[in-house]
Amino acid sequence: MSHILEKLSSAFDAAQKEGDLLFFPSTVVKHQDEKVVYEIRLCPALQNKPTLPTPDFAPQELHEKKKEDPFSPPYNPHLHVGDIRDEESGTEYAVLLNKYSVVPQHFLLITKEFASQASPLSPSDLVQTYLLLAAGRKARTPLFAFYNCGDISGASQHHKHLQFLPLDDEDEDGPPIEHLARSVKLETPDRPFTLPVSYANHVFRFPDRLYALSAEQLEPILASAFISLLDLVFSTIRHDSTYPSNRPSYNVVLTLEHMHLIPRRQESHVLAETGDELSVNALGFAGMLLVKSERELEAVKKEGVSKILRGVGLESVHEIQVLGTAAEARDEDV
Ligand code: AMP
Repeated sequence: MSHILEKLSSAFDAAQKEGDLLFFPSTVVKHQDEKVVYEIRLCPALQNKPTLPTPDFAPQELHEKKKEDPFSPPYNPHLHVGDIRDEESGTEYAVLLNKYSVVPQHFLLITKEFASQASPLSPSDLVQTYLLLAAGRKARTPLFAFYNCGDISGASQHHKHLQFLPLDDEDEDGPPIEHLARSVKLETPDRPFTLPVSYANHVFRFPDRLYALSAEQLEPILASAFISLLDLVFSTIRHDSTYPSNRPSYNVVLTLEHMHLIPRRQESHVLAETGDELSVNALGFAGMLLVKSERELEAVKKEGVSKILRGVGLESVHEIQVLGTAAEARDEDV
């Protein structure tokens, strides 16, 4: 893993110089809403970038879509930082720099063989992602990872890709939402919990110093955390009788300390002030939003980030889920 991270900085500079990577400069505005200090990134240069249509994840479309898949080999050599192989499953991955970067050294972990972006993360995906985060910690280049799963999660490519963003030094301990996650006191640390925010979310706290474990030791911990959170995502969706008929969509945010899953019911939110649609992906739930103009920035602040996130997320049914778990536990005791 360290070989990948060591190459990131020079690869990013070279790809930009060669014109294979477009970098869009931006400024960050901090904005507190309820308990989270959100980072709203203002990037006017993005107004000139054509927006990609939301991909259709329907299986019958996949064969056709494969032809226009930017994540299938051969890779652009300036964007291709290296390869990773999961020894346990034999799954192979490529690490690519994001061709359209708003944050320097934003990179992607993609499956070499085609897999759908609507498919859940596999144990190997989770292990290799976590190993990259652990390597980032060791190399003092802290990172977090995210995954936009399904039609209405904010993904723009249908080939399975996890994404990694470097954190500024001052934010070394995680993206904005992580501060809130860390502040939650847990009575039962090995059970999923929820953050006190406007939208349904399911979070698992990892055991201390998880980053010191080997791939074999990580796998059962990460896989069972993911499955328990995914169960809760489906349970939350089932409680929403008006949930759209697409396959369930959700976002994943992964840090060294927590795994967050957020069920989605809508890809974008219409801002009341301007009527503009603001597309939201996992980054929004990590506490980072992207706007393309001062006008949009003001509209987002006026609307309130928590209202926007609630608009694209679901209502929390955590209380019902906790009661259900308690009832199940009582039944087991009998
Ligand atoms: P998402 O939009 O969340 O599905 O993430 C896909 C990312 O891939 C976007 O951030 C794009 O900027 C990036 N991207 C699109 N085409 C390419 C490409 N050919 N090579 C590398 N990155 C790309």
